[in-house]
Amino acid sequence: MVDVATRSRMMAGIRGKDTKPEMILRRGLHARGLRYRLHDGRLPGRPDMVFPAKRAVLFAHGCFWHGHDCPLFRPPSTRPEFWAAKIGRNREVDAQSTAALADAFWRVGVVWECALKGPGRLPLDLLLDACAEWVVGEEPILEIRGIFTNHVASAGAHDPG
Ligand SMILES: [Zn+2]
Repeated sequence: MVDVATRSRMMAGIRGKDTKPEMILRRGLHARGLRYRLHDGRLPGRPDMVFPAKRAVLFAHGCFWHGHDCPLFRPPSTRPEFWAAKIGRNREVDAQSTAALADAFWRVGVVWECALKGPGRLPLDLLLDACAEWVVGEEPILEIRGIFTNHVASAGAHDPG
């Protein structure tokens, strides 16, 4: 069990402040002329950004809280069962929200934290351009994640040949 002070330091470290994935996205898309509603509680999963006219929502997912299958996700060594259950529930909620949104004809985009920070991050301008294009386009789904070149498979998957 970690004390409150330690835990809040951990949270601050994990979530950051100005570098929060959601804030990076919000600033970047706003700079590209897109306008959105924030955290619309009327929609499943309370999406971070909602573009009503484009029938699109965007989530900025932290790799830890949403249990991403990537090197940024490291299960805590203390209370592993607690965290496994908690993160498992988060993933369940994510899946249900995505399905409910798609059923209601929303286009659903997810940008993972590892695409925005850490060793696998993408060039920020390219990432933001891709998001903005998706928002104004027609594609039903967007998922952007970091690229970890030490993983041969993911490097190969991005080889245009
Ligand atoms: Zn990730």
